[in-house]
Amino acid sequence: MATRVACIGECMMELSERPDGSLLRGYGGDTLNTALYLARLGVAVDYVTALGDDPWSEEMLAAWAAEGVGTAQVRRLPGRMPGLYIIRTDDKGERSFHYWRDSAAARDLFSGPGAAETRAALADYDLVYASGISLSLYGEAGRGALAETCRAVQARGGRVAFDTNYRPRGWPDKAKAQSAFRDAMAAADLIFASSEDLEWLYGPEGEEEVLRHHGRCEIVLKGSGSPPSVRVLAGSDDVTVPASPVAAVVDTTAAGDSFAAAYMAARLAGRPPAAAAACGHRLAGAVIGHRGAVIPRSAMPDLPLA
Ligand code: ADP
Repeated sequence: MATRVACIGECMMELSERPDGSLLRGYGGDTLNTALYLARLGVAVDYVTALGDDPWSEEMLAAWAAEGVGTAQVRRLPGRMPGLYIIRTDDKGERSFHYWRDSAAARDLFSGPGAAETRAALADYDLVYASGISLSLYGEAGRGALAETCRAVQARGGRVAFDTNYRPRGWPDKAKAQSAFRDAMAAADLIFASSEDLEWLYGPEGEEEVLRHHGRCEIVLKGSGSPPSVRVLAGSDDVTVPASPVAAVVDTTAAGDSFAAAYMAARLAGRPPAAAAACGHRLAGAVIGHRGAVIPRSAMPDLPLA
């Protein structure tokens, strides 16, 4: 039977402001990007989130399904709406992001009616992937429910992957984020960590927070630099895999999300960690050569997954 992956998180409506003030509608979210690229790479993946019963939620569902992302685990909450953000671009080309997301349906994935069904369904997946942004959605009780669900996944032989995506504005204070990330890293079987996130969160010794799990789980530590390298620690292996230079970096949105998708797709196909990291670099390199999180299908690189 095919390996089934669940990506947990939030996708929001995206409105990009044009010079004349009109708004162009799209959608975006880190874990959704990963799900979408996993689907394009042939992995059976479901996106696990909550939406409302409004027309825009409907549109998002249809768009995900058209990309091959499974939507059977998307809960619909009557009367609720998805989160929303506007991207404003100033006259120097700098973008700023402005959010309306506090009451987004996705925040109630692990609470209220239907949460028990979501948790039971999740326990059946072979690989469950969530990010630091996912963690910031749920509050203490929701994070506890997610952690318990991850233990149920592991008890059935499944694995849990965690991507440190630290966005300070998602957290009431840094201490909460520090402890939530510590718990998530301690529970994960596969950690994608960016050295930048770790430093913002824990200071100069940040990398130690993830490296202490070396030997217990697989760690993909993404460095900064241009082009950046990743250090992959799996079992007794400890290898550094540099990215190839990208001729023109147009937009780094979804670099890490697409890297994680290609890495996981390669590992699920049986490729060793260093080869999986090379696949991650290849896809991320293509993604940053295009505007937006989702590149045209025709621009997808042919990855050596088999
Ligand atoms: P994020 O900030 O989204 O987590 P990262 O900066 O960690 O993204 O980059 C993720 C991946 O994107 C890198 O591991 C690499 O494969 C690719 N990447 C990012 N920047 C560059 C660059 N300047 N040149 C080549 N590849 C890059």
